[in-house]
Amino acid sequence: MAAAEKHDFRVIVIGAGPGGICTAAKLLEAGIKDIVVLEKAGGVGGT
Ligand SMILES: Cc1cc2nc3c(=O)[nH]c(=O)nc-3n(C[C@H](O)[C@H](O)[C@H](O)COP(=O)(O)OP(=O)(O)OC[C@H]3O[C@@H](n4cnc5c(N)ncnc54)[C@H](O)[C@@H]3O)c2cc1C
Repeated sequence: MAAAEKHDFRVIVIGAGPGGICTAAKLLEAGIKDIVVLEKAGGVGGT
């Protein structure tokens, strides 16, 4: 990652399965918007 792309997030969610997606949704609902969801697979959805 280039230095210009660096960003500190308040929350990092690992995995974009149902658990990760719901966690991100609840965080956004709670007003916590400085988050990122990291997924190692090619897309979201999990198992
Ligand atoms: C064959 C099968 C059939 C099923 N059928 C049903 C059904 O009909 N109905 C139902 O309700 N449930 C079903 N389930 C269960 C359902 O799939 C799981 O309960 C659900 O996917 C669990 O969600 P999760 O977010 O906890 O985990 P997962 O869905 O496993 O998501 C975890 C995610 O994290 C990612 N990940 C893991 N490690 C890392 C890492 N180091 N860095 C980045 N990303 C990472 C994975 O790639 C994955 O996308 C089924 C499960 C299986 C295996």
